[in-house]
Amino acid sequence: MIASIHARKSMGGYQLPILVAFAVAVGSCVSLTPQQQDKVADVQRFADATAAAYNLSRIRVAIEPGTNLGIGGRYRQGNFYLNERMLGSRGLTAVVAHELAHYVLGHDTRLQGASMAELQRAQELRELDANAKAVEILMRVKEMTQREAVQTIVTHLRGAGRLQDRGGALAWGHRPAAEEIADLLARFPDSR
Ligand SMILES: [Zn+2]
Repeated sequence: MIASIHARKSMGGYQLPILVAFAVAVGSCVSLTPQQQDKVADVQRFADATAAAYNLSRIRVAIEPGTNLGIGGRYRQGNFYLNERMLGSRGLTAVVAHELAHYVLGHDTRLQGASMAELQRAQELRELDANAKAVEILMRVKEMTQREAVQTIVTHLRGAGRLQDRGGALAWGHRPAAEEIADLLARFPDSR
């Protein structure tokens, strides 16, 4: 939550909004170091710039305790949850861009499918679309070249792939990282 106060200048008679603090909590409080709080502020600025670029309403970033489920972040119905561990990760920019992509793509509606296999496939396609949209977001909002943006996502996916190879969990709805990378590079063939 962002608390803002309005300090009225005594003589001037105009209001000066001051950003006071990010209070980050999901259920039980996650207490963050000052460095982590700076990262959260960066992430929130990235989210705000993305919402502005796509004419969407503001999306709030919430931090949740770290898990071992292979999930760096998740997007659900207008809320963006980031795993506490991501705040110190080199993959932070990629994960944030990917979760914001779900928001920009409006991935709020229920998945349609007659069977679990169909639901899984529908989610896999959303994940692939989110990777591609993340590239666009990095270009528009972070002013990366297409090549830099593709590289940012691919580098993160390679890291996820190494964890998967060592027996790490594959988050539900995701194809193995190598397949997600192949799909992304097929969409941006000049960034191979
Ligand atoms: Zn995703």
